[in-house]
Amino acid sequence: MLAYRHAFHAGNHADVLKHLVLAQVLRYMGEKDKPYTLVDTHAGAGGYSLAGRYAQKRGEFETGIAKLWDHPGLPAPLADYVALVRQFNGGGALEQYPGSPGIAQMLLRPTDRVSLYELHPTDQRILETFLGHRPHTRVQMSDGFAALQKELPPPSRRGAVLIDPSYELKTDYGKVVTAVRECLQRFAQGTVMVWYPQVQIVEAAQLPKRLIAAAKDAPKGWLHVSLHVHRGEGDGFGLHGSGMFVINPPFVLHDTLAAVMPLLVELLGQYEGARFTLDQHLGRG
Ligand code: SAM
Repeated sequence: MLAYRHAFHAGNHADVLKHLVLAQVLRYMGEKDKPYTLVDTHAGAGGYSLAGRYAQKRGEFETGIAKLWDHPGLPAPLADYVALVRQFNGGGALEQYPGSPGIAQMLLRPTDRVSLYELHPTDQRILETFLGHRPHTRVQMSDGFAALQKELPPPSRRGAVLIDPSYELKTDYGKVVTAVRECLQRFAQGTVMVWYPQVQIVEAAQLPKRLIAAAKDAPKGWLHVSLHVHRGEGDGFGLHGSGMFVINPPFVLHDTLAAVMPLLVELLGQYEGARFTLDQHLGRG
């Protein structure tokens, strides 16, 4: 049984980066009338209580979403992300945080499809209760990596995939690379978002290079953004930051992120060495 529970980390700096990018991608997908499919291979519970004992134990949201919550004059993409979190809280105080399925639920149109995979039985049950009733929705308690084979290509040939494992097992790093290759083989035009942690192990350090190699032939190229917020605990362990690697990204995503990442460093950085990186490779088509 896997021990990881996302409730401990909900709304932290890594969720801010991930969900900012996810919201931008889904907004872009929603600009065309034709329905699309979102596949979320590691969905979590869908939403989390920030007042609950899990989130309170570590208080990670205090150095994440809470830093943006009341910040005046946020640029549009960050204001849009915070507005989604406000909507999830019914317009009240910051007590709940939407996971990736929660963000998706607010942005998908009734005709768009979503397939959600979650292995933890408790989180899967919460997710099923939260979103199982939505039309065009599949909530499965099965391996999200293995699901790509049956999910891709999506029926409408428009789609996005979010691959967001816990990396609790080191084998997840290799599985992510294999999954990216599979996505490109089965659905070359699809947008694929991979979240990864900046932690002090060789597999994590090598992952961006491996993703770049796997995505080299993506028709619309790739984008890589990372946010490094602190130097790690004592001996350098812990989550220093995170990155999002987006294959076939919306063409506007680079400029959108270039405009907001300096402010995210300012708001979420926890030491003087906090920084971001942003790179892209334009594809052929
Ligand atoms: N995507 C979620 C979000 O943004 O709110 C967070 C997901 S959390 C980082 C990773 C989740 O993947 C955990 O809830 C874990 O139980 C689940 N998980 C781990 N291995 C899995 C697998 N092979 N297939 C599906 N879910 C898995």
